[in-house]
Amino acid sequence: MEKYDIAVIGGGPAGVTLAKLLGKTNKMAIIRPEDYSMIYCALPYAIEGLIDNEKTFKSDSLVTDAGAELIRNTVKKVNFDNKTLVFTDNSEIAFNKLIFATGAVPFIPPIPGSSLKGVGAFKTQDYLVWIEQMVSHGLKKAVVVGAGAIGIELAQAFSYRKVAVDLVDMGDSVLPNLVDSDMSGVLSTELEREWIKLHLQSKLVELKGKDHVESVVLGSGKTIDFESYEGENCSGIVIFAAGMKPEISLVKDSSIVTDRDGIVVNDRMETNLKDIYAVGDCVQFNSGITGKVQSGKLATNAVPMAKILGFNLKGQNRTYPGFYNGAATKVGKYFIGGTGLSEAAATAFGYDVVCGYSEVTTKFPIMPGAKKKRMKLIVDKATHRVLGAQIVSEEPVVSRIDLLTFAIQKESTVEDLSALSYASQPHQSFYPAANIVVLAAEDIRKKQSW
Ligand SMILES: Cc1cc2nc3c(=O)[nH]c(=O)nc-3n(C[C@H](O)[C@H](O)[C@H](O)COP(=O)(O)OP(=O)(O)OC[C@H]3O[C@@H](n4cnc5c(N)ncnc54)[C@H](O)[C@@H]3O)c2cc1C
Repeated sequence: MEKYDIAVIGGGPAGVTLAKLLGKTNKMAIIRPEDYSMIYCALPYAIEGLIDNEKTFKSDSLVTDAGAELIRNTVKKVNFDNKTLVFTDNSEIAFNKLIFATGAVPFIPPIPGSSLKGVGAFKTQDYLVWIEQMVSHGLKKAVVVGAGAIGIELAQAFSYRKVAVDLVDMGDSVLPNLVDSDMSGVLSTELEREWIKLHLQSKLVELKGKDHVESVVLGSGKTIDFESYEGENCSGIVIFAAGMKPEISLVKDSSIVTDRDGIVVNDRMETNLKDIYAVGDCVQFNSGITGKVQSGKLATNAVPMAKILGFNLKGQNRTYPGFYNGAATKVGKYFIGGTGLSEAAATAFGYDVVCGYSEVTTKFPIMPGAKKKRMKLIVDKATHRVLGAQIVSEEPVVSRIDLLTFAIQKESTVEDLSALSYASQPHQSFYPAANIVVLAAEDIRKKQSW
C-alpha cells in the first residue's frame, strides 16, 4: 500500500494552499473526486456569460507542479487507528499525517418537494453546467432562495441572461451578513431596478410539481408558479443559496470532536487526535473579536487557515487569530463590503454599540465621474473598540475594507480611527478636507462627546 507523509482530503483552496506549502518537502497526496477544482467565487460570472465556464476550472498543475500527487477519488472511510484511507473503489493508502480540507456543501432544507427535478444549489461543476445548460436552452424563470452574496450574484446573472428571477429570503433585508438594513435599502432598490423580484420576510415552505418543480409556496400562502413552456428544459428552476453546512460525514462515527459548524480545532488547526488536522470550510472556529463560535465559510478564511497549518508543519509556530469575515460583493452599480460584526450581530453578541455614518464622493466632487460612497462604523460603547464597518460605494471597496479589518484585528478604538493619516488625490478620493473613515469615527465621537 502506498504511504504518504501527508494526505489531504480536499482539493479546494485550502487543499491547494497546503500543496503549495508542503508538496516539495513531503510525500504528499491531495485527494478530490472532481475533474477540476473550481474558482467558486467566479461561478456567477460564468452563468452571466462574462467568462467562459472553463475559466473557473483550476489547473491540476497547481497541485502537481507544487510536488504533490493528485489522487482523483472519493474517500469513503478513514481508519484512524491504522492510519489508512479507503476510497469508494476500495483502494487504500496509508498516511502519517491527515488533513481534512473537505469544505462545505450547500444546504437544501428538507421541505416537501425539495427532491423534485429542477431543484438544486450552486457549487460544483455539475451545478454550473446544469444551470448554464438550462439558461442556454431558454429557461424562462428562476427562483433563488437566499439573499446573501451568493444568491444575489446568481440572481443578477439570471437577470442579465433574460431569465425572470424571484429572490426569496426569510430576513427583512438583503446581504444581512455583510451590511445592516440601514445600509441595504439602496441595494434592494437596485435589485428591483435589475428586474429581480424580491420576496423578503418570506419563508419557502413547499415546492410543488409531479416530477419537475412547477410552483413555489411561501409561508404567506403566496405562490410563484412556473409555466411549462416548451418541455422540461424550459420550465423554471429553484436554486438554494441559503447557506453551507460543513462536509464532515467522514468523521461522523469517529472520536474526532465536531460541533454544529464543523470539526473542532485549536488555533494551530489541530483536532483532538494526534497527527489529524482540519482547515477551511469544514472547520468550526471562533470570531477573532468575540472569541465565540462564529460562521466564516469564506475562501479568505480557508486559505489563511491552511497557511497557518502549512507553516507549522514546516516547523514554525503560528496561530490562527479567528474570523473577521471581511467580504464583498456587487449589486448593479454598487460595490458592497463589510467586516467584523454588523450592528445586528454585535447586539446579538451582547455589545452595547454606537454607530457612526459618513458619506463622501469617490473623487473630488468637481471631477467628472465622482460618485457617492457611504460608510457605517460600529463601535463598542464600553471600550470604544471598533467592532465592524460597512461600505456601499460606486467604486471597489475591498482595499478600504481590508484597512478596516486590520484596524479591528489590532483592536483599534474609534479615537485611533479618527486620527487616521490618509492620502488624497482628485481622481482617487474626496478632498483632503475629509476622509470617509475619519468622518464616520468623528460622527461617533460627536454623538458620544468622546
Ligand atoms: C458561488 C460561490 C461564490 C463564492 N464566492 C466567494 C467569494 O467571493 N469570496 C470568498 O472568500 N469565498 C467565496 N465563496 C466561498 C468559498 O468558495 C469557500 O469558502 C471555499 O471554497 C472553501 O474552501 P475549502 O478548501 O475549505 O473547501 P472546498 O472549496 O469546498 O473544497 C472541498 C474539497 O473537498 C473535497 N472532498 C470532500 N469530501 C471528500 C471525500 N470524502 N473524498 C475526497 N474529497 C472530498 C471536495 O470534493 C472538494 O474538492 C464562494 C462559494 C460559492 C459556492
